[in-house]
Amino acid sequence: MKVGIVGSGLVGSSAAYAIVMSGAASELVLIDLNHKLARAHAEDILHATPFAAMVRISAGDYEQLSGARAVVLACGVNQRPGESRLQLLGRNAAVFAEVVPQVVKYAPDAILVVTSNPVDIMTEVVTRLADVPPGHVVGTGTILDTARFRTLLGEHVGVAPHSVHAYVLGEHGDSEVLVWSSATVGGVPLEDFAQQTGHPLTPEVRARIDDGVRNAAYRIIEGKGATYHGIGAGIAHMIRVIRDDAHAVMTISARPYGYSDWKDVCFSLPRVLGSKGVEATLHPVLDEAETQAVHRSVQILDEAARQLVVQPIE
Ligand code: ADP
Repeated sequence: MKVGIVGSGLVGSSAAYAIVMSGAASELVLIDLNHKLARAHAEDILHATPFAAMVRISAGDYEQLSGARAVVLACGVNQRPGESRLQLLGRNAAVFAEVVPQVVKYAPDAILVVTSNPVDIMTEVVTRLADVPPGHVVGTGTILDTARFRTLLGEHVGVAPHSVHAYVLGEHGDSEVLVWSSATVGGVPLEDFAQQTGHPLTPEVRARIDDGVRNAAYRIIEGKGATYHGIGAGIAHMIRVIRDDAHAVMTISARPYGYSDWKDVCFSLPRVLGSKGVEATLHPVLDEAETQAVHRSVQILDEAARQLVVQPIE
């Protein structure tokens, strides 16, 4: 499967490396405003292919996206000193207004995987800019938060994260919601499993895990300036799922499509991902507090989405 990545910065190049190491694509095209950067990453990662999967990797222009079945949008600008979140959003929306029409022109059938932050808002921006079927625009949303939640729960109860089913919903950011009430381990409700195995979920344990999920990015950024390997691996996984039409359930960001009164706002729910993008959205059972928290989280995104002015630049 041919895959394009627009934006060869830290996240884009890390996704490219993870895609090559896991053989998620057979052909990879890197694009960046900074051509030299895209070329350098393509060359560097090409040299990893003899030790990994046989992936044809090159740097190119938008024309080279022709035939791509998925395009990762990892481009964007960084926050300037004193710049508000909304100003940054406006500048990133302007970048996407330039990029998205080019991507859709050459790869009209591709699934667009949005990863630039704030990812839910940027997913909404792409949804407005791209005249593509519903479901073809997906954001990485809370895939990483869900992965962190499952990992920390698994560590606490002594089980592999693969056997833990638990979700983080809503915004990928401060207002995200960890769903404890319907979490399960090997089919057993988490709370029961924790009691039975002598690892009770005390308020302290819950607070520690909540902090571990919610504030992981802040700690990583403090230590090394940015986060990229975790999300790079998550993107590679999404690409594999799209390639294999695997119908995997992932907490990815998209419009709600009938889930609620909200329409023009993207947020994470467990969704079925396949070769046609989002193929179904699940409606998880939440307790009252979680329901309220998801509403609050989406309300925050909805307010930001309403302030967006998005127009394509051809
Ligand atoms: P991140 O940590 O999110 O990957 P970076 O700043 O490292 O952030 O990467 C963002 C990349 O997006 C940069 O390499 C930048 O050159 C690229 N970029 C910015 N604007 C555009 C654009 N209009 N078209 C293509 N790439 C762009």
